[in-house]
Amino acid sequence: MKNLFPDDYLNSILDVTPAYLKERGLGGVILDIDNTLVGHNAPIPDERTLALLEEYRRAGIGVCVVSNNNSDRVRLFCEKIGVADFVSDALKPAAQGYKKAADMLGLSPGQTAAAGDQIFTDVWGARRAGCYAVLLKPIHRGGEGAFIAFKRLFERPLLRIIRKRFPGR
Ligand SMILES: [Mg+2]
Repeated sequence: MKNLFPDDYLNSILDVTPAYLKERGLGGVILDIDNTLVGHNAPIPDERTLALLEEYRRAGIGVCVVSNNNSDRVRLFCEKIGVADFVSDALKPAAQGYKKAADMLGLSPGQTAAAGDQIFTDVWGARRAGCYAVLLKPIHRGGEGAFIAFKRLFERPLLRIIRKRFPGR
């Protein structure tokens, strides 16, 4: 149960700045795609998100995308945003994709933040792997499909507790 609760709860990926990571002793960030970097199935992140990725690079923060999407989609997306490291077909909430990602960045899971918008996928997987789990508010809930909508129902009671733990978010 404790693995369903994030280490932090933030409005958007834009809050996960290089300074935020460095203050917590984290040298890398593991990123979900849908509703974390882009609205569901959108082709490319907005300018501010692309600028953040550039800031990570300049600050020496390692970046790896971990997605349950197939390799074609993930590779194409990562090419577009200029991220070399990714794990596709990650089977989140399994921990293995996160461990692999940390490995690719030359870090331990405990030295990485993992940011995503879904409790039962991103938070659970990140916590099991031992990453610093950051839950983000989804960019846009439309078009998520039946399975995600189903999971969102079960997120509700947990979100109520999480909001109490992180007041004002
Ligand atoms: Mg997502």
